[in-house]
Amino acid sequence: MTTCADPATEPAIRTVALSKTYGQGDAAVAALRGVDVAFPAGRFSAIMGPSGSGKSTLMHLLAGLDQPSSGQVFLGQRLITDLKDDDLTRLRRDQIGFVFQSYNLLPMFTARQNIVLPLQLAGRRADPALFDDLVASLGLDRRLNHRPSQLSGGQQQRVAIARALITRPAVVFADEPTGNLDRRSSAEVLDLLRSTAGQLGQTVVMVTHDPAAAAWADQVVLLADGQIAGRLDQPDSATVLAALDRLGRN
Ligand code: ADP
Repeated sequence: MTTCADPATEPAIRTVALSKTYGQGDAAVAALRGVDVAFPAGRFSAIMGPSGSGKSTLMHLLAGLDQPSSGQVFLGQRLITDLKDDDLTRLRRDQIGFVFQSYNLLPMFTARQNIVLPLQLAGRRADPALFDDLVASLGLDRRLNHRPSQLSGGQQQRVAIARALITRPAVVFADEPTGNLDRRSSAEVLDLLRSTAGQLGQTVVMVTHDPAAAAWADQVVLLADGQIAGRLDQPDSATVLAALDRLGRN
């Protein structure tokens, strides 16, 4: 399969002094406070931390879904935090893939139609070899004509992963991707996200509050109170759990 990124190169995405404050005056909440973090290309990274630590805010800013109060986000060498709305929309469509907790598949479409939808919306055609590769490696060959309601949660999430990968994005963001799955399907999905990075060179950034999920990642970035509180390389779940306990897990 094609390699999307060389792990030896610059980070796929990084932030410089990234801050985000919601509201104003007495109601102001500093969700992120001067975050400098880099996510290596071709790796599976997890962002984790207690509830309210700023994980979702960081992901939204990295993915160009929201603007920071100050600081910068670079996708490769491109500064994305000063892009206009139209350019940001195009950048998200062409360079960012999303996997959500709730799958976000269109119920009236088959698995195949859901997978190719982002390409169709962009006026592009699916690369048949990539489509076949993805479908085979995600174990969806025999499910392509099923609608989401005819698929298990794990199968639906695999369709969502194929949909995120088909555009060959620079980064795939996964937001609590196993939040609705049982233990076995969770392990399958996390294994797939990991092999997506390992075998395809796809950069994957996952937000989770679940130490067991984070332990599948190559690196875990810990957030606490809107700041980077540490980084774990190749952690096991006991290490992640201990780190989270130190941060005041809830
Ligand atoms: P996490 O994903 O780690 O739970 P969030 O990024 O959702 O954390 O939230 C970080 C902080 O910012 C929390 O205190 C939260 O209440 C606050 N926050 C998040 N979104 C908003 C918003 N739209 N308006 C006001 N406060 C917000």
